Amino acid sequence: MKTRKSWAEPFKIKMVELIKMTTPKQRLKAIREAGYNTFLLKSEDVYIDLLTDSGTSAMSDQQWAGMMLGDEAYAGSRNFYHLEKAVQETYGYKYLVPTHQGRGAEHIISKVLIKKGDVIPGNMYFTTTRLHQELAGGTFVDVIVDEAHDPQSDFPFKGNIDLQKLEDVIKKYGPKRIPYVSMATTVNMAGGQPISMENLKTVRQLTQKHNIRIIHDMTRVAENAYFIKEREKGYRNRSIASLVKEICSYTDGATMSAKKDALVNIGGFLALNDWNTFEEARNMVVIYEGLHTYGGLAGRDMEAMSIGIRESVDYDHMHARIGQVLYLGDKLVEAGVPVVHPIGSHGVFLDARTILDHIPQDNYPAQTLAAELYINSGVRSMERGIVSAGRNPKTGKNYYPKLELVRLTIPRRVYTQAHMDVVAESVIEVFENRKKIKGLRMIYEPRYLRFFQARFAPLK
Ligand SMILES: *Cc1c(COP(=O)(O)O)cnc(C)c1O
Repeated sequence: MKTRKSWAEPFKIKMVELIKMTTPKQRLKAIREAGYNTFLLKSEDVYIDLLTDSGTSAMSDQQWAGMMLGDEAYAGSRNFYHLEKAVQETYGYKYLVPTHQGRGAEHIISKVLIKKGDVIPGNMYFTTTRLHQELAGGTFVDVIVDEAHDPQSDFPFKGNIDLQKLEDVIKKYGPKRIPYVSMATTVNMAGGQPISMENLKTVRQLTQKHNIRIIHDMTRVAENAYFIKEREKGYRNRSIASLVKEICSYTDGATMSAKKDALVNIGGFLALNDWNTFEEARNMVVIYEGLHTYGGLAGRDMEAMSIGIRESVDYDHMHARIGQVLYLGDKLVEAGVPVVHPIGSHGVFLDARTILDHIPQDNYPAQTLAAELYINSGVRSMERGIVSAGRNPKTGKNYYPKLELVRLTIPRRVYTQAHMDVVAESVIEVFENRKKIKGLRMIYEPRYLRFFQARFAPLK
């Protein structure tokens, strides 16, 4: 019997949300008013919204039914216990601290574990993760493999940690100054690239030797598990669920933005295995998020999250989710558009440095490309380059990342194959007219996470 190759969705559509179609003139006005920053566009003015996969996924009917089962008690909500059980059963962590979203968990774990002068090695930075580490007095050190910085490398596990780099950091600073290794499953800033099980196991051995914890950024752990199943020898017959659990078992705790993998519009948590760290975190959540049985969430949000967590580790779901991303990626590759290879789990990353090689990094090639794509078709994407990288807090100098990317991020269960076709056509058209595109200059720069609110104007 021939096996079915299609990635078609394992769901049917029960409700639709109408979207506005705009003219080029309307879009030009909108992007000018938004300071050429796609984050500042009104959602209403966007046709296909690929800004982020964060909190933008479609919930299932089961999750919506769960919303009606919210127990909105201030303390001890039944939904908290459902969530605790879902986290324990799906991921294997013992203790749960709910937070309003991922950065709430990052804030707490950074405050609990990091002392001034500490060093936190990790497989490439993530914006909010690094900022919380820095605000707690730590310094992030990138120990990801070199391949991650090369958009053309086809290495299947670009999320891997370079063991030599990690050992060097341990040698240089000593294990006492390293509260934990910050390990992300699928590395967002590298283009949604996975870490292999083998690498994770080796990192575990090395860190255990030095008594260093691993704190897992598990935002897209199920997507990482899918790539391990597809690409890593010896895992083909394993379920996504069992791979997810195994990944988590090599770590000591995790921060989760449930707005990604876990298919909710809002929510997150910190999960821990060590009672003392948990105690501290549970004390702290009361200050910053809310009581330890709701952490800034409504009971109904926790219910939707516990259902979403279980849906996220289903093979057919993941096959369709990543299948759709690969479909878009393959179309662009066929048309010769430079993208990050291999195509990642949550989006297609356009290599703006190569596409707009006539625009210097100080004139924001990725920011420019994102604005052009919006003007062309109303497709909203996001800059992941020098604007996102920000400045070194000590020297005030710009970070100059090697990658200058535009991220086309695909929300889960929201758009159809026809939408992906429209996106591909628009990217290809902008690509073909790339020589006419001029860069931008920044006219307003906020102090923190500038990519969210910075404003730009076109160069003359
Ligand atoms: C989104 C994200 C976060 C932060 O989570 P929020 O829910 O947006 O606060 C942290 N790490 C990674 C890898 C993410 O993608």
